[in-house]
Amino acid sequence: MEGYRTEKLTEGKTKTVYLTKNSDEVLLEFRNDITALDGKKHDILKEKGSINAAVSAKIFSLLEENGIPTHFIELVAPTVMRVRRLEMIPVEVVCRNFAAGHLVKSYPFVKKGEKLRRSLIEFFLKNDLYHDPLLSEEHLTVFGLMSKEEIRTVKKITRKINKVLSKYMLKLGLRLVDFKVEFGRDKTGKLRVGDELNIDSMRLWDLKTGESMDKDVYRQGGSLEKVSQVYVQTYKLIVGEK
Ligand code: 5GP
Repeated sequence: MEGYRTEKLTEGKTKTVYLTKNSDEVLLEFRNDITALDGKKHDILKEKGSINAAVSAKIFSLLEENGIPTHFIELVAPTVMRVRRLEMIPVEVVCRNFAAGHLVKSYPFVKKGEKLRRSLIEFFLKNDLYHDPLLSEEHLTVFGLMSKEEIRTVKKITRKINKVLSKYMLKLGLRLVDFKVEFGRDKTGKLRVGDELNIDSMRLWDLKTGESMDKDVYRQGGSLEKVSQVYVQTYKLIVGEK
């Protein structure tokens, strides 16, 4: 990262953002931190930073190849990604194909693993202190988080990501259960997929065994050794041998 980095802009739970000499770009450093329960559970997982940076780079490249605009430019080091600077929208956009996680906890008639009638897109406010409350499209416009036009675009892009990623994962023997994406506006106002898309932000189930191949292993209390094993295995499937 030497030669690129200038000053630290912000630090999240798992990534640090640095300014660069080019004001249109920033550097994202993926750290080895792993967290759950709105940040209340925290550990350090060896190699997680490089694994998630590589997986994100692979997925962003795949999306770009399919005409989906993202912030990704290149990986400049194993844990550092050069990206377009965006004005981030503080909303987590979740797309679900099968029932799991929050959906099962929130609604009595939803059973874990059931295929949803059609993919479901949900919006959550990105705020750990308030436990990421669910937002309706009305909330989004009334609170000034997104315009109606932006909501339309975000939904269209999210459905396209779902199509591309589901197909890709299926070929690797994985079921894309759900995923979370975040969007931002570039300097022209165009919406792009920002943040990250990796083993922390997707649910992936082994097609044959049904086992979780993602951060759920950590959320559900798996040992760090097991979590590490799963991250390496999924990394190898998505990116290739290390
Ligand atoms: P759920 O709402 O069921 O907890 O999560 C739905 C999907 O969004 C899962 O794939 C989960 O990994 C992802 N997701 C939800 N919230 C977050 C978050 O705060 N950070 C990350 N990295 N992923 C999230």
